Amino acid sequence: MLLKNSDLWFSEYYMDDDVKLSLKIDEVLHVEQTPFQKLEMFRNETFGVFMVLDGYTQVTEKDEFVYHDMICHPAMCVNPNIKNVLIIGGGDGGTAREVARYKSIEKIDMVEIDEAVVRACEKFMPSTSSVYSSEPRLNLMFDDGLKFVKEAPAGAYDLILVDSTDPAGPGEGLFTVGFYQDCFRVLSDNGILINQHEGAFYDGDIEEMKKAHAKIKKTFPIAKVFGFNTPTYASGYWYFGFASKALDPMKDMKPEAWNALGLETRYYNTDLHKGAFSLPNYVKEILASV
Ligand code: SAM
Repeated sequence: MLLKNSDLWFSEYYMDDDVKLSLKIDEVLHVEQTPFQKLEMFRNETFGVFMVLDGYTQVTEKDEFVYHDMICHPAMCVNPNIKNVLIIGGGDGGTAREVARYKSIEKIDMVEIDEAVVRACEKFMPSTSSVYSSEPRLNLMFDDGLKFVKEAPAGAYDLILVDSTDPAGPGEGLFTVGFYQDCFRVLSDNGILINQHEGAFYDGDIEEMKKAHAKIKKTFPIAKVFGFNTPTYASGYWYFGFASKALDPMKDMKPEAWNALGLETRYYNTDLHKGAFSLPNYVKEILASV
C-alpha cells in the first residue's frame, strides 16, 4: 500500500517510552504474524525498505552495510583460515552475503527459525537476500539455532555468527550460558564466536549488555566487545561480542593478509578494526562491572 503525503510513522520506544526513534512510513509492504513474531516491512524514503520484528527495526537498506560488515570482517581478519561457518538467525541474508565473499570459505550453514523472514526479504530486500539464489556453499535450514547448536558435533565450525533478535521472543535462548557453552564445544581450536551485545546507552540495553558479557566471560578465555555506528538501532551505536578459545582480536589480527584479499567494504577497514575494539570509558566501566 503506497501512502501519499501520509502522517503514518513507525516508532521504536526506549526508557519506558520517554524516548522514541521514528521513521515515516511511505509504503506498507508486508504485515504478518508468523508462528514466531510479528513481521512488518515498510519503505521510508531515506532508509529504503526496512524490516521490523516485534516492534524493533532489524535491518534497513541504507545502513545494513555497517552491521553486516562488522558481524563478519573483523573475525575474518583475525583468522583468515576460517573454512566452516555457522550463521544463526540472519534471515535477511546480509550476513551470508558478506561471508560468501571469501572464496576460502568452504561451507556456510545458516539456521534461521522463521522462514517467513527469508521469504519476505526475498520479495522486498534483494540487496541482502539475493545470496540465497546465488551461493552454492550456503546451506539454509529452518530450525531453532539453540537446538541446532546443542546437536552439532564438537569442533564442527571455525566461526559462529549469531545474527539474532534481542533477548526476548525467539532469540531469548541465544543469550544463555548453555547456548554459549554449546558454541564453545562446537567451535574448532582457533574458532571465533560473534554475538549480539546490545547497546550501552539506554538502561534496558545496558542491562542486556552486562548479562551477555558476564555469561560469555564465564565460557570463553578471550571475550572482547566491539562497537559500530548504526543509525537505526537504539542510540545509534551498537556492540558485538568477540569470543574465542585462542585468538585475541587485536593481537592476532592480520591486516596485511586481509588487505591482500582486496575486498571492497563501505564500513570496515583494518584501521577501523582497532578503533572498534577501543571502547569509550563509560562502556569499559559497564563491562568491568560484571
Ligand atoms: N540485525 C538484526 C538486529 O540485531 O536487530 C537482527 C537481524 S534479524 C535477521 C534476526 C533473525 O534472527 C530473525 O530473522 C529471527 O527470526 C532470527 N532468530 C531469532 N531467534 C532465533 C533462533 N532461536 N534461532 C534461529 N534464528 C532466530
